[in-house]
Amino acid sequence: MGDIRRILVVGGGVGGLTAAATFARRGVEVVLIERRPVFDIPGVGLGQPANALRVYDTLGVLDQIRATGFAYDRMYLFDASRRLIVDHKFLLGDDRIPAFCALSRLQLHDILLGAAERAGAEIRLGVTVDEIHEDQDRVDVRLSTGELATFDLLAGFDGIRSTTRRHLVGTSFEPRPSGYGAWRVQAPRPDYVRGMEFLQGIGSKTGAMPLGDDIMYLFHIRPEAAGANFADQDRVRLFRERLAQYGSYVAEIAASLTADSDIVYSPIEPFLLPWPWFRGRVVIGGDAAHTFAPHLTQGAAMAAEDAFVLAREVLDGDVPIEARLMRYSMKRYPRCAFVYTFSGQWLQDEQSVRSTPDMEAARAELTANASNRIGASDRILNGPI
Ligand SMILES: Cc1cc2nc3c(=O)[nH]c(=O)nc-3n(C[C@H](O)[C@H](O)[C@H](O)COP(=O)(O)OP(=O)(O)OC[C@H]3O[C@@H](n4cnc5c(N)ncnc54)[C@H](O)[C@@H]3O)c2cc1C
Repeated sequence: MGDIRRILVVGGGVGGLTAAATFARRGVEVVLIERRPVFDIPGVGLGQPANALRVYDTLGVLDQIRATGFAYDRMYLFDASRRLIVDHKFLLGDDRIPAFCALSRLQLHDILLGAAERAGAEIRLGVTVDEIHEDQDRVDVRLSTGELATFDLLAGFDGIRSTTRRHLVGTSFEPRPSGYGAWRVQAPRPDYVRGMEFLQGIGSKTGAMPLGDDIMYLFHIRPEAAGANFADQDRVRLFRERLAQYGSYVAEIAASLTADSDIVYSPIEPFLLPWPWFRGRVVIGGDAAHTFAPHLTQGAAMAAEDAFVLAREVLDGDVPIEARLMRYSMKRYPRCAFVYTFSGQWLQDEQSVRSTPDMEAARAELTANASNRIGASDRILNGPI
């Protein structure tokens, strides 16, 4: 470990908590600061693929995640009436690690927070960084509480609007709207929904992810105006209109939506920061460095991998810290670039289905190629990190 004895982690999402737990378990003194005054995690659910579960296994929380979530090993592609087009068995996982385990964001967060606290990380809520001063062998910060503190490394896992990234590269590289957005709502899980489902429609895609024995979440991806901001009172009507072409459980869920339904809307803003992801002793990871279209369900997974690889490379102290952080950047960039490209292509392909003839062409293409294509991605993502 040598020169890295005390680290500041900025951001308490999946990436920051995994970093805090991993560094603390390796004997580093960790302070994690989180802007929110309480951990009220927005969002619906997270599918966690085998590559993320392997990282959580190193933190000793795999069994907890498996006991909490819903494990599955298949993806099904259907048309809008839920007529099957492709049944893909994921080539992810092994005897110990399931291909996927999905759970609510809040549950995953609580499990990782427990791991970080048990490892000895100090978690401070309602705190941000006001100033960062880099020196050759340390980084000095002024916190929003007014305190001055010194660390050997600052790791920014502060999400898509990262201020740590702005400290590194200014505003030259910022996520921009893709012109697509994702709608999500939690719903009861019909017994027959036992894996990840995509229902290809005309002009949009809908799907479901099981989150537990009784629940799943429904998602819907379609073109939406940049900066769209839907008023709460309009969401049931707008979501129903958007789901109108879909049958099966989608139609039932659409009909059952009420003013109390917690309908979440997020713009899709894929973004990949040209590496290196550090300067001096300030480094970033997770959504601060990359965000993806959600198709491979790899966003949080890549954040967790970043955290794991960062700790491994930084604490392998055989060369100067710049060389170790460069190693981290070089290992992470190609893998994240793969997820960025593959999921972005998938988004473009599915959203280009705009007519009945397009749908028939898509059905033929998916039947012929989709399982092999997803299988190639599985093999890459199941490989060593
Ligand atoms: C529709 C949709 C579906 C998705 N589905 C999946 C999925 O199924 N599986 C998957 O793996 N991923 C999924 N993702 C991606 C996933 O949500 C993100 O990639 C992941 O949450 C990123 O984790 P993070 O820790 O990097 O950032 P975040 O989760 O955004 O955490 C950043 C934290 O930093 C805090 N923060 C921000 N600024 C500061 C500051 N200045 N000081 C202190 N704290 C700060 C924030 O409050 C936040 O708590 C999905 C994303 C979308 C949009």
